[in-house]
Amino acid sequence: MHGDDRDLDDASGSARRLIRELRQRLEGLHRAGVRDLPRPNWIEPVRTDDPVPPIFPQAPAAAAGHAVEQPPRPAGDLPTRKPAPGPALAATSLFQEPGFETAPLPLVERPSILRVLAEEVAICTKCANLAATRTQTVFADGSPTARLMFIGEAPGADEDRTGIPFVGRAGQLLTDMITKGMGLKRQDVYIANILKCRPPENREPSGEEAANCLPYLERQIDIIRPEFICLLGRVAVQYLLGTTLSMGKLRGKWYRYQGIPTIVTYHPAYLLRNPVAKKDAWEDLQILMNAMGLPVPSRKKGQD
Ligand code: SF4
Repeated sequence: MHGDDRDLDDASGSARRLIRELRQRLEGLHRAGVRDLPRPNWIEPVRTDDPVPPIFPQAPAAAAGHAVEQPPRPAGDLPTRKPAPGPALAATSLFQEPGFETAPLPLVERPSILRVLAEEVAICTKCANLAATRTQTVFADGSPTARLMFIGEAPGADEDRTGIPFVGRAGQLLTDMITKGMGLKRQDVYIANILKCRPPENREPSGEEAANCLPYLERQIDIIRPEFICLLGRVAVQYLLGTTLSMGKLRGKWYRYQGIPTIVTYHPAYLLRNPVAKKDAWEDLQILMNAMGLPVPSRKKGQD
């Protein structure tokens, strides 16, 4: 090969790398909700009558830096999530590619992209009543590179006060399930809720509130791309898998959310009210641990 050819090869290789890195960066910003970028003042405006194509052609029009408003769904209407390959409730093989359209973000970029999204959530007022009564939003807790993501319902009083999900009594039980049950550290998983704001009197989220807030959770999942999801309780199942079947009917099987193997178990608050169900939750965790390749310890008597 001639020196000129080598130079050309090097140059095109660098250009390809640059384009790939630029694309990943833009996809990351898009997932964080950024729909427009400021134009540096040294770039001349394009002189054409044609409209300038958007950076992300599929993105709906939105004000710069703000979430696209979702049309509210009537209360009780179950939202249909983006269809994963195959029916949402098909318990099939775990060995299936996730159903995302874009490549995963580089691990190193995830914390900053999540921070941008958290800042957007912190000023969200899509649910006027919740925004008026919350102390603060409760975005998430845990690792942006977690293999496993837990998703619950909504913040309670302790979470509203601290800004961290699952820190009250139910949160302590979830922490025990993660640490004592699964042998993981809480900071190694990622924990989020369907709603980022506390519903007054700890009532159940309305369909409209869930529809307003779900896009944030969808973006969190898209950014983190966990290998496994564990849905905690009926409300998380209802809005992520789109079913109102009882927990008793849904437990013990694998489902898929965006192609990600997803298992369901009881919400820790339910387990506090019904300690007898802890053995069922432990069975669910063992299924999860087996799939994750984690050692399953034998349960000692009295640990339920
Ligand atoms: S619950 Fe979600 S959508 Fe509603 S105001 Fe809070 S952050 Fe916004």
